[in-house]
Amino acid sequence: MTNEANRWIKQAFHDLKASFPYRCRCRFCKNAPIGKLEFSHERATALSHGAKRGRKEKYYDIKNHPKSYRLRTRRCHLLRKAAQHKRFIREAQQR
Ligand SMILES: [Zn+2]
Repeated sequence: MTNEANRWIKQAFHDLKASFPYRCRCRFCKNAPIGKLEFSHERATALSHGAKRGRKEKYYDIKNHPKSYRLRTRRCHLLRKAAQHKRFIREAQQR
């Protein structure tokens, strides 16, 4: 990416975060500043299975499917992923 494209996507993500309506309400995320939040992919979208997943593709996927994402802190995002992983393992073992 060129410098200009880089700046654009950085600013675009910041603006999207600032106006994003779906934020995690847990104690880690509730009062976190925007800079500490990241998009957590919560429901499948076309991007989930797509081969091409650059920042720009992600940006437009979030913009077009906001309900499939939540703003979370890194900590909450990782905790959620770990819980999903545990559930996945448990379900696989029950089969
Ligand atoms: Zn949270």
